[in-house]
Amino acid sequence: MNIIFLGPPGSGKGTIASKITKELKIPHISTGDLFRAAIKEENDLGLKIKSIIEAGQLVPDEVTIEVVKRRLDDEDTKEGYILDGFPRTPAQAEALSKFSNIDKVIDLNLEDSEIIKRLSGRRVCRSCGNSFHIDFVPPKQADVCDDCGGELYTRKDDQIDSIKTRLEVYYKQTEPLKKHYAQLGLLCPVDSTPAPNLVLANVIEILK
Ligand code: AMP
Repeated sequence: MNIIFLGPPGSGKGTIASKITKELKIPHISTGDLFRAAIKEENDLGLKIKSIIEAGQLVPDEVTIEVVKRRLDDEDTKEGYILDGFPRTPAQAEALSKFSNIDKVIDLNLEDSEIIKRLSGRRVCRSCGNSFHIDFVPPKQADVCDDCGGELYTRKDDQIDSIKTRLEVYYKQTEPLKKHYAQLGLLCPVDSTPAPNLVLANVIEILK
């Protein structure tokens, strides 16, 4: 099954998708993670996109589409995949429709005030990428990853100015995709306000 996770930044796409990937045994492909890995490696792509991502803007369509197209050519996507954070623009959705078929679009919905709370309190492990939250999922020891002992940090794009830009970008460029996928009969709206395990249960029910 080929699944898209749509929804504003901070709506829980990564959290829920990383659980569904284990349930369905299909890869979780997050464009944000692919871009952050390129930045960490300091390769050509990483150097090109670092400042764009830190400012909360979108990486240009042609770059993003090429990255995803190449990833979807990998053998592990043959039984299906979860796309988290792609497509984010109409041009990306159109390109995707030319190189793959989509079975379901999970659309996570959350109020802006809650999004800001979740993103500004998020802490990510520099080593393994696991996410924590200073109030909702606090690490046992401040700034230390429970799983690997790595250092926890605040993503530059989780600082308040960037969060506001990301929300503006979402409403302008990504939200219109809901209508597109609703017209195709693929859109499955999910309220992302409850605790992650409840949201996860709703998503699993939809995917059954
Ligand atoms: P995320 O981890 O999904 O919040 O993505 C982090 C950042 O990566 C976004 O704010 C964008 O700068 C960039 N990004 C991720 N996915 C896309 C995409 N589909 N198109 C353009 N930029 C993207």
